[in-house]
Amino acid sequence: MKSNLITGHTRLTGLLGSPVAHSISPMMHNMAFKLLNLDYVYMCFDVDTTHLKEVTDAFRIMNVRGFNLTMPDKTKMFELADEVSKAASLIGAVNTVIQENGRLIAYNTDGTGYIKAAADAGYPIDGKRIALLGGGGAATAIAVQSALDKAAAITLINRSGKSFDRAELLSEQLNKETTCHVDLCDINDEVALKQCIEASDILINATPLGMSPNEDSCPIPNASFLHPDLVVSDIIYNPKTTKLMKMAKEAGCPTFNGLYMLLYQGAEAFRLFTGHDMPIAPIKEAWFKS
Ligand code: NAP
Repeated sequence: MKSNLITGHTRLTGLLGSPVAHSISPMMHNMAFKLLNLDYVYMCFDVDTTHLKEVTDAFRIMNVRGFNLTMPDKTKMFELADEVSKAASLIGAVNTVIQENGRLIAYNTDGTGYIKAAADAGYPIDGKRIALLGGGGAATAIAVQSALDKAAAITLINRSGKSFDRAELLSEQLNKETTCHVDLCDINDEVALKQCIEASDILINATPLGMSPNEDSCPIPNASFLHPDLVVSDIIYNPKTTKLMKMAKEAGCPTFNGLYMLLYQGAEAFRLFTGHDMPIAPIKEAWFKS
């Protein structure tokens, strides 16, 4: 865009979900379009999942460039896309869609977002042994991308139930399709949990435990489960320092939160929309001060 004016050539991108008004994505993308002088705009659309098919069909007709999705649309869109990337297909959910000649091509940038955030913090995951708490959408995306990006080993830590059963299937799939060794741990088996964390380089919390307003909750029982060589990362960003991170800092572990995962999943979507790298430094400065 040569100025702030929307023109007849402006390409539309945006976010679908409900609620979406709180999202930082419009600020991040629109600032990046402006900085790179790209003729795109990013809008939020508060759309109930029941209307997702109608809306995305209309997006095809309108030649919308691409869009992001929040839960619960991430799994529904997986079924509506014409083509799905390898990572998104292993994850079973998508958060970014681009349109090419009327075809909706779906990706999941959450895992890449985490991997880039870890590298940005100084802790690249390749060759590392990861202990991953949680088995929902975010944990699955991180597990899949870490396995594809050559983590040495991942232990999926869950309580028994739906997430544990899903993790079992995911571990079978990743052991078959990647070189990463993936196994399972029951979060309530304290002996196994301690052993698994002892043998790990990075501990990731991808459960909501510790997220505002439940800031007093923590996915591990106490600091004796940690060791100073362990990097402890929480994908929660509100609060910026979770109870787990406070405990880890006291135990001498390096830590980082989920703020830059949010930034880098957006940056990867931006690259898919425009073919350009997002100008990370000014966007960080404006919207992601930690
Ligand atoms: P989700 O799909 O609802 O999954 C949550 C997972 O946490 C499930 O496996 C759930 O297990 C587990 N869990 C919840 N309470 C637990 C407990 N008391 N003990 C053990 N496990 C428990 O959520 P999500 O989308 O993956 O998101 C997880 C967290 O990541 C949220 O806090 C979200 O805000 C954050 N997030 C951050 C980013 C970022 O960019 N930084 C991106 C996505 C998500 P059960 O199935 O047993 O309930």
